[in-house]
Amino acid sequence: MLQPAAPSTHPLHSRPGASPTPTAARLQVSLTFLGAAHCVTGSKYLLTLDQGRRREQLLVDCGLFQGLKELRLRNREELPLTPADLQAVVLTHAHIDHSGYLPKLVKDGFQGPIYCTAATTDLLEIMLLDSAKLQEEEAAYANAKGYSRHHPAEPLYTVADVEQVLPLLRPVRYGESVAVSEQVSVTFHDAGHILGSAIVEMQVSGVEQTKRLVFSGDLGRYDNPVLFDPAAIEAADVLLVESTYGDRNTLLTDPEEELARVVNEALAQQGVLLIAAFAVGRTQTLLHYLKKLRAEGRVPQVPVYVDSPMGIRVTALYPRHPDAHRLGAGSSLDFAGLRFVTEQQESKALNSRPGPAIIISASGMCTGGRIVHHLFHRLPRPQDTVLLVGYQAEGTRGRRLQQGETEVKMFGELVPVRCRIAQLDGFSAHADRQELLRWLNNFRQAPKRTFVVHGEPAAAEALAQTLREQRGWTNVEVPGYQDEVVLFEGI
Ligand code: ZN
Repeated sequence: MLQPAAPSTHPLHSRPGASPTPTAARLQVSLTFLGAAHCVTGSKYLLTLDQGRRREQLLVDCGLFQGLKELRLRNREELPLTPADLQAVVLTHAHIDHSGYLPKLVKDGFQGPIYCTAATTDLLEIMLLDSAKLQEEEAAYANAKGYSRHHPAEPLYTVADVEQVLPLLRPVRYGESVAVSEQVSVTFHDAGHILGSAIVEMQVSGVEQTKRLVFSGDLGRYDNPVLFDPAAIEAADVLLVESTYGDRNTLLTDPEEELARVVNEALAQQGVLLIAAFAVGRTQTLLHYLKKLRAEGRVPQVPVYVDSPMGIRVTALYPRHPDAHRLGAGSSLDFAGLRFVTEQQESKALNSRPGPAIIISASGMCTGGRIVHHLFHRLPRPQDTVLLVGYQAEGTRGRRLQQGETEVKMFGELVPVRCRIAQLDGFSAHADRQELLRWLNNFRQAPKRTFVVHGEPAAAEALAQTLREQRGWTNVEVPGYQDEVVLFEGI
């Protein structure tokens, strides 16, 4: 179904009578921050090349706002662009906060190519369908319970809308330069964040000299056992750098050892260890560590269940993309005692399963998916442990558990929290402050302009401050939502 990237068939190239770049018109290149500005969600950057009557527009990332209600409401606002006029969309990776608005964009008229890595195209099929199903289920549930403020509750998009997105995906290999419009080409470099994640390097021509824009996307950690280190980028005219952990370092030095400790403590109580893990990335890293710890006799050989349909499908993708991770071709994350729970019946049966056992389920921020049912049953049990292994955004149930709330709302009910809540930061898929600075150190000289994005205000400001004061980078800005900046003006 997926076709390889074919820049020569781009509509702008094939349009009969398309005139060459006029010499007299002044080209203005601008960037509008339509998400992930002063927050970590809804990533969308609109690049506009304006030359009088000629205009090219590209969207880098097309994420859904998640978390706080005031942010989620932005998904219902109209974008300040005409989807049908966009030349292309370029995606850094498949996470829903970077890709989950695509079905809505296509529903609203976008029909152009969507460029991303091959692993991202495979992940998107799984993740967008899941996102649509979740939204359909939530709307149906809200309607049935009558607790929606919208009457009736409508999903933002449906599975049928996602089906329209998939034929537009154009897989591109890491390191390969591809023209995405007449004046813009992009190259993807491994970001080490999730399978297929990329740093986008963009070349914009037509402005005196060719300009280089670098979008860091979400940056991964160094020395991850499954993914490669984020690729070093040495130069940029304009840089957008993420700052999720711009103000803090993870204290965890040895995730493997820390996981062994939590597993042993949880199982010593004869309880169930319920791990809230993102289906993409975290689940596979955990399986990698558990397999190793069991083989080395460092944790008991209790049954391990992966109860996440998406996590199971994503795990099966790893052998298909051996160039996108360190495990190598033919490697497996499977081990004796590991069970992939595919049937809903079996998932339900786990609710009454006594310990000791380990259940890995999603979503990682406890906002939806099968984890919610598991939490509903496990949170009130003192012998059980819930382990959070990732970033918990503001407004999510995961954040409330992390903050020690004694009751959380689920299915319209208040559920008491009597189990143990554990947290391991080192499993985050995001570079921490030190690692962000390590990656930024690769630049031989300061980019002419740097925008610190994808961070809550304190985190973004902290990173910006460090770049200004300690690294001597001038022109470091923290843009706000819907800010528009002119990057270059040509002759
Ligand atoms: Zn991400």
